[in-house]
Amino acid sequence: MITLKSYVCGEWQSGEGEARTLRHAVTGEDIATASSEGLNFAAVADYGREKGGPALRGMSFHERAALLKRMAETLNENRKELYGIAASYGATRGDAKMDVDGGIATLGFYAGLGSKKLPASRFLTDGDETRLSKQGNFAGRHIYVPLEGVAVQINAYNFPSWGMLEKLAPSFLAGIPNIVKPATPSAWLSFRMVELLVGSGILPDGSLQLICGSVGDLLDHLECQDVVAFTGSAATGRKIRSHPNLVANSVRVNIEADSLNCIVLGPDVAPGSDTFVYFVKEVLGEMTAKAGQKCTAIRRILVPKETESAVIESLKEGLSSVQVGDPAVEGVRMGPLIDRDAVVTARKGIETLKQEADIVFGDPNRREFEGAHNEAALMEPVLLHCRQPEAASVLHDIEVFGPVATVFGYESLDQAIRLARRGGGSLVGSIFSEDEDFCTEATFGLAPYHGRLMVMNSKAARESTGHGTVMPHLIHGGPGRAGGGEELGGLRSVYHYMQRVALQGDPERLRRICSPAI
Ligand code: NAP
Repeated sequence: MITLKSYVCGEWQSGEGEARTLRHAVTGEDIATASSEGLNFAAVADYGREKGGPALRGMSFHERAALLKRMAETLNENRKELYGIAASYGATRGDAKMDVDGGIATLGFYAGLGSKKLPASRFLTDGDETRLSKQGNFAGRHIYVPLEGVAVQINAYNFPSWGMLEKLAPSFLAGIPNIVKPATPSAWLSFRMVELLVGSGILPDGSLQLICGSVGDLLDHLECQDVVAFTGSAATGRKIRSHPNLVANSVRVNIEADSLNCIVLGPDVAPGSDTFVYFVKEVLGEMTAKAGQKCTAIRRILVPKETESAVIESLKEGLSSVQVGDPAVEGVRMGPLIDRDAVVTARKGIETLKQEADIVFGDPNRREFEGAHNEAALMEPVLLHCRQPEAASVLHDIEVFGPVATVFGYESLDQAIRLARRGGGSLVGSIFSEDEDFCTEATFGLAPYHGRLMVMNSKAARESTGHGTVMPHLIHGGPGRAGGGEELGGLRSVYHYMQRVALQGDPERLRRICSPAI
């Protein structure tokens, strides 16, 4: 069994006391333990600020970009081993690629952004100089400088690689050191990646620290220059957002929480048409990729009343061909949930959804899966159908974090928009239609409640990266229940780790101060 040590204050340290055990999602075997008890979290934060911060801030954007590139190369050379570790939390090869390759690609994207779009300086100017006096001897200009604290990442279990790297890339580029705290059930992958990066010798001392186990009292030691980037459930997000020390010091907090993402089918789309086929494919992919354990997964399927039964029949047909089991077995397309507790929680969630919807496909209580270990955390995809969407409440409120989605029939576009908004703010929504007016109206109806919208026709669907795939060029996050945060989106997320400052004074002096970044 592996002991997942923490990498803090320049060394690998074991925690004390009773450790948490990580179990293999397919075999149920104990694979690792993690404990952070006894770590000096105040010293961890100080080490990042005092060692890692000056080292990163001493580098130009181009040097930081080169560092990201080397980090991507190091991880890329070890991809096969990392896929093997991803199998321990139930990932199929496709799931592992999404997590591992997606994370490495995000590092590469920010490396490119830093080297091509940013100057060879250590700060940025923002916009042009503004004349502020009649004679022109008093002017203003905004600059961005790196914060001088640490970025604390607290991540969810479903993306131990991508979740870590998508936060690390923009923050490193900004010049701020990271303290990474992966979710314990899948922490082995993050641990190994950090071990590879530390072992490569490319990281400045103190720039990357790792906590395996609980976050302890770290949040009590954060100050006004620090940043917290959280991904996980809405419930934990609320606790972090209201943490007294973070509130008292106005620590920047970004929350990426759960979300009841929807997909809307237009009334113009006839069953059997290309658009219909792409729509069905999208839903099937979202329900089964990573066994539905994606914050961006489609949970609510909004379709015109008249197409409802055709959609349900097509989804049933598609789902029946998905082989669920041990991802190591040939032909298996959907692996297990993270652990058996997650299966129990998902089953309970489905029981609640059944108050307002009927199961039309899948048995949440199925226990036998061909060729799979008895201990595997497996669950069939479950499709529900809600006959009275307006009267429903839990269906618009409870996220079942597994291969579960519900079909709702709508009677008008207004109703579809109303139902979509009942999710209370989502990460992503999709609209499938060839009708331009429908798409435009649906877009503006859904937009205030979403962080990202895929407005699809059959032409775009052919080349689409998919509803659930987050691209670093575009923002990831959403309003309301989705956490109200924003990540990625190109340079936007780099600015998040910097302070924007309005400089005022003699324009010549401002030009001289700003010249390295212009
Ligand atoms: P979680 O239980 O909320 O845990 C998330 C992280 O918070 C873990 O690292 C956890 O550590 C830590 N944590 C738990 N309690 C804490 C506390 N009181 N103070 C500080 N940290 C604490 O979520 P999860 O079960 O790992 O992930 C699944 C959820 O994440 C789903 O709801 C999913 O929708 C959401 N998610 C959202 C996004 C997004 O980008 N919006 C992406 C992925 C997942 P331990 O594991 O050690 O307890």
